[in-house]
Amino acid sequence: MTDNTIASRYQATLDRIAQACQRVGRSREDITLMVVTKFHPLDEVLELVRLGVRTFGENREQEARQKAYDLLERDAAEHVLAGIPAEWSMIGQLQRNKCNAVARWAHSVHSVDSVSLVNGLERGMQRALDDGSRENPQLGVYLQVSLDGDTARGGALESDIAELADLVDDSDHLVLRGLMSVPPLDADPSVAFAHLYDLSQQLRTNHPYATEISAGMTGDMEEAIAHGSTCIRVGTAILGPRPTH
Ligand SMILES: *Cc1c(COP(=O)(O)O)cnc(C)c1O
Repeated sequence: MTDNTIASRYQATLDRIAQACQRVGRSREDITLMVVTKFHPLDEVLELVRLGVRTFGENREQEARQKAYDLLERDAAEHVLAGIPAEWSMIGQLQRNKCNAVARWAHSVHSVDSVSLVNGLERGMQRALDDGSRENPQLGVYLQVSLDGDTARGGALESDIAELADLVDDSDHLVLRGLMSVPPLDADPSVAFAHLYDLSQQLRTNHPYATEISAGMTGDMEEAIAHGSTCIRVGTAILGPRPTH
């Protein structure tokens, strides 16, 4: 019998990560597991919180904001977080007009791929700090790279990364963490992640602290870990298929 609960699937995912690390001689502590809760209700977030998860990813601004605030409300009433704050990250394509809202709740944004988003998030951070809707003075930024040049699916061209990185560096409230990518459809994920790793090395010549690589999902986390990922974003393996709505 397969034990098909969030707890058992979460444990199985931790085991997968540990094994993937062991296979390539990486330290487990170098990899953050972000649980992607998009389309899943707050009850499932609460179950993850009870299992110790505090790192969450979402791809729609309104849905993410609602869950982040609902969780804070539950925590105020029942101390579900036990004093360890949850961190919510925006990982999906972001519209410029959502930047002010995202800056209120996001710990980091993994899908920054344009000058207009960098400027929008910087302005949104300034506003959120000014009006008191945010305490943390910094927002982590991952530049999303389009590895096949099809920027319609999100991601900047490789040739634009250096300029975006400089712009993030020049901002007051954005902190460049590193790169993010989703492998192109039909691409060999190992080839894609190896290339992303090379781009990360290039980025680090001018931005040595930007060491993070956000790569790997349910289907390709082993390949991502083998190629230097420091943050895997996992939904389906832990929460099952996303409810449709
Ligand atoms: C939905 C999503 C994930 C999680 O994908 P799974 O295959 O369910 O693990 C990871 N990254 C991004 C950008 C996503 O939109």
